[in-house]
Amino acid sequence: MSFDVERLRLDFPILKREVNGAPLVYLDNAATSQKPEVVLQAIDAYYRNCNANVHRAAHALSDEATRAFEDARERVRQFVNAASTSEIVFTRGTTEAINLVANCLTGQLRPGDEILITHLEHHSNIVPWQMLAQRSGARIVAAEIADSGDIDLDDFQAKLSERTRMIAIGHISNALGTINPVHRIVELARSAGATTLIDGAQAVAHLAVDVRSLGCDFYAFSGHKMFGPTGIGVLYGRESLLDGMPPWQGGGEMIEHVSIEKSTYNRLPYKFEAGTPNIAGAIGLAAAIDYMSGIPRDDACAHEDRLVDLTLSQLRQMEGVQLVGEPAQRSSVVSFLVDNSHPHDIGTLLDQQGVAVRTGHHCAMPLMQRLGIPGTIRASVGLYNSEGDVERFVAALRKALSFV
Ligand code: PMP
Repeated sequence: MSFDVERLRLDFPILKREVNGAPLVYLDNAATSQKPEVVLQAIDAYYRNCNANVHRAAHALSDEATRAFEDARERVRQFVNAASTSEIVFTRGTTEAINLVANCLTGQLRPGDEILITHLEHHSNIVPWQMLAQRSGARIVAAEIADSGDIDLDDFQAKLSERTRMIAIGHISNALGTINPVHRIVELARSAGATTLIDGAQAVAHLAVDVRSLGCDFYAFSGHKMFGPTGIGVLYGRESLLDGMPPWQGGGEMIEHVSIEKSTYNRLPYKFEAGTPNIAGAIGLAAAIDYMSGIPRDDACAHEDRLVDLTLSQLRQMEGVQLVGEPAQRSSVVSFLVDNSHPHDIGTLLDQQGVAVRTGHHCAMPLMQRLGIPGTIRASVGLYNSEGDVERFVAALRKALSFV
């Protein structure tokens, strides 16, 4: 096998630990991924050797920190194949990236305009648009999904009109694992003249993302779901659009000149980065990108797909277990329910055996309402999970079923 998962697992120190007396089986990767040694070392080395504020002082440490920070931006640019580093804005994460866009578009939307989303979205890709709708008088429209967890493209097209100004859609659903047809959706959006934002929070750790081939206007993602640290994320934005947007937070770094009466703003991307940025976070994210680039993406993807298939086939054989969602194309997530049991109780029984899964609505309450369920149990794999992890999870679930 070209993909040596046992060797790869050695890169992640946390995978050696035990939980509740059992080896850790970490299947909560959709919430956050674990961090390889190289990322931990990069953050540590920054604070030990060249900690200083960026872009400001004429001293050696600041110069080194600035170069490392801007080098991280260049690595992110390459990672998503953006045309220029002007299009790479560092944020706290996906949530902040989406809020940034929703805030800055306030003056561009009018009553009667529509923002098209879907019933599959994470709250981060719903609530900022609701707030924008309240500020601007625009209306939210949501495309239906099928019971399989796939977007109903006919309904999406029916809801797309000349009133649609903004389309915001997840690349991969964190709740069901659905890989959405984002290429097709961007194509449809462009022919309708709508701006597109793709919430890539779940995609970046699993699929190769090329914003230019996608043709989207904005793409948002978080470092912590792709082996980087928390508190750092990215907004890719098409330069012409970012240029036309006002800044959303004011402060240091985002200005060119300030007087008491008024200010002029810095060039892209600094116009959108007020205050001291998360320098260590950006450096850690760059280390995560370097780490990922050393692992053939196709092999990692095939490995994760094998784990998902193995999980699905095991769960299908278990009496009392109901899979939630059977999307046509799925990545890394398996959601399910156990008859006559609350997801949380199953999660607790699994945790007692060292198995970490997530239970609840997964920040997708409209999806749960649509499916008529309060939540699910979600097992989500990452590239360091092994077949042994799936076997231990299945054995722990069998034991949990024997209790309920
Ligand atoms: N969108 C999706 C699809 C997600 O899975 C998440 C994280 N669960 C987010 C947005 C928000 O990401 P963050 O909390 O890192 O801002």
